[in-house]
Amino acid sequence: MTAKYAVFGHPVAHSLSPRIHAAFARQEGVDLSYVAIEAAPEDFAAAIHAFGAVGGAGANITLPHKERVVALCSQLSDRARRAGAVNTIVRAGAAWHGDNTDGLGLVHDLTERHRLDLRGRRVLLLGAGGAARGVAPSLLDAGVDSLWIVNRSPEKADALSDALGEPGRVHTRYLADLPSLGGFELIVNATSAGRGDGLSLPFSLAAPRSLAVDLSYGEAAISFLAWAGAAGCVHRIDGLGMLVEQAAESFALWHGRRPATDAVYAELAARADALQTAD
Ligand code: NDP
Repeated sequence: MTAKYAVFGHPVAHSLSPRIHAAFARQEGVDLSYVAIEAAPEDFAAAIHAFGAVGGAGANITLPHKERVVALCSQLSDRARRAGAVNTIVRAGAAWHGDNTDGLGLVHDLTERHRLDLRGRRVLLLGAGGAARGVAPSLLDAGVDSLWIVNRSPEKADALSDALGEPGRVHTRYLADLPSLGGFELIVNATSAGRGDGLSLPFSLAAPRSLAVDLSYGEAAISFLAWAGAAGCVHRIDGLGMLVEQAAESFALWHGRRPATDAVYAELAARADALQTAD
């Protein structure tokens, strides 16, 4: 029987995950279906339950449900517990096991695809939503020097800092403090602000030879990466590579082997370039 997988989000129609997992499945010779399921916050728990009832074997969870799904999991991996956010659920009997592959995906993209060394960097993390929670533990594990978390709603930055439990390395500040924070060697935009009015950031945030990463990709990443260019960041990377790498980690949790990612990444990147050229 074809195994059932899905991505749950709101909105989710734009998600590239069905395309990525279909490509991995073809490459690895795995028989699966993977669909996008739209679920508003009030319908989310019922949608997960219904998916389980029809034999769903696993799913990705995306914006805005990554923190909400934690309560529906009977067990959490260590990294999901530290993040307080889940992006991958795996069927465990009648229950769900929750994991988080976002951080591994980001670090793999930066260190393996782009060959960048994250160790010792002073890092600014913009945002404290599900994606920020997913990547923060992995950035610490990758050996960054310090992590400064700034979020529009400061209480969420404080909650993330408390969950990370490394008071010497993790600091929180207000958006209004940005001009006085000095320069960072890695700036990660984990907000969804690029889908709206964007962020207002001072150029002083970029240290010499700084790396800027937007977890968003496509149009949503344009304004932050344009700011990073103007601020002098030498490396500017969008979230497409992370998307493919976190999907590969989820695939490995479900199917026991990690697919090669270069061909899928190259195809999506070429398609994104073609779309921008066609504008
Ligand atoms: P959430 O809804 O959980 O969090 C959104 C975050 O953005 C919050 O910190 C929120 O602040 C902040 N924010 C939203 N609008 C603004 C604004 N106008 N100004 C300042 N801050 C704002 O979303 P996720 O964390 O799940 O996703 C964030 C982004 O990361 C999305 O663009 C998503 O596509 C991308 N992403 C990419 C992945 C990849 O694999 N490449 C994986 C996961 C996410 P507040 O708390 O104040 O509301």
